[in-house]
Amino acid sequence: MPDSFGEPAFMKRSASGETGSGPVAGCGLAEALESALEREQFILEYQPQLDLSSGRIVGAEALIRWRLPGRGIVMPAEFIPLAEGRGRIAEIGAWVIRTACMQSRSWRQAGIANLRVAVNVSAVQLSRGDIVDTVASALADAELDGSGLELEITEGVVVDPKRALPVLERLQKLGVRVSIDDFGTGYSSLHYLREMPIDSIKIDRSFIRNLTDNAQDQAIVMAIVAMARRLGLRIIAEGVETADQVRILRALGCDEIQGYLISPPIPADRLTELLRRKDKLRFLLP
Ligand code: C2E
Ligand code: MG
Ligand code: MG
Repeated sequence: MPDSFGEPAFMKRSASGETGSGPVAGCGLAEALESALEREQFILEYQPQLDLSSGRIVGAEALIRWRLPGRGIVMPAEFIPLAEGRGRIAEIGAWVIRTACMQSRSWRQAGIANLRVAVNVSAVQLSRGDIVDTVASALADAELDGSGLELEITEGVVVDPKRALPVLERLQKLGVRVSIDDFGTGYSSLHYLREMPIDSIKIDRSFIRNLTDNAQDQAIVMAIVAMARRLGLRIIAEGVETADQVRILRALGCDEIQGYLISPPIPADRLTELLRRKDKLRFLLP
């Protein structure tokens, strides 16, 4: 299955050379994290989100990586919890928001309009009202409309709706969209959907992985899509790796897909290239 870069998308897990980070947990990472921001060791990669009805890339999720000299690339699963534990996540999160907004501005200046950029937000960030100021100033500096930015909140982590709700409402006033990430893996999803100003849900990839031959997963995805439709929410399927999964997701009425089938997370300039060669994407869709 060809992609725009001449090799199958599913072969490439990370454009930055993949993790050199496996067994390094702990030892020295926490100390190194203290100075990672000022040493400019963080980078963002972007993974495209494709609209199934138009076949066009309509969004890109920003995913952070830490380029640590002597260690290689450290993946977020390893250092985000560390940053949360050490009180550094708000700073790092603010850098992610500013950098993603600036990248969005660069895309717009390059003639790529209407590309929504999604940023992952930690629960710790969300429980602090200053995320609203961070987002407002990042949008202003990048001369970006709020609707060009989406914040992804992991379902399992919005532990205190009473604290999150006013923050989300202020973000909504800025025009920013909010999506529930890893939908289906938390324990209070329906409650969130009712209480929170949510625009879209991202079906966790654990429901997509065996979609082709697991009737239970199909039933669950069907139910999520039906519910989201009635609630007026957009639905994105995460971790889409095969054309057969796309066929089923399309039949079930899913709006957008994201996953290695289209592209792994890649540096911004490679996404620019992909956006300019959008004709090639048709080969990826059944
Ligand atoms: P997520 O937000 O659910 O992001 C999707 C993850 O799935 C990414 O892993 C992505 O590389 C991976 N993925 C995408 N397509 C496929 C696929 O087809 N198959 C498989 N097996 N995996 C796929 P990554 O980049 O390692 O990020 C892991 C998690 O770290 C993210 O999950 C998110 O929760 C968190 N994260 C990433 N960047 C940030 C950030 O800037 N801030 C915060 N707070 N968390 C972040
Ligand atoms: Mg996400
Ligand atoms: Mg997810």
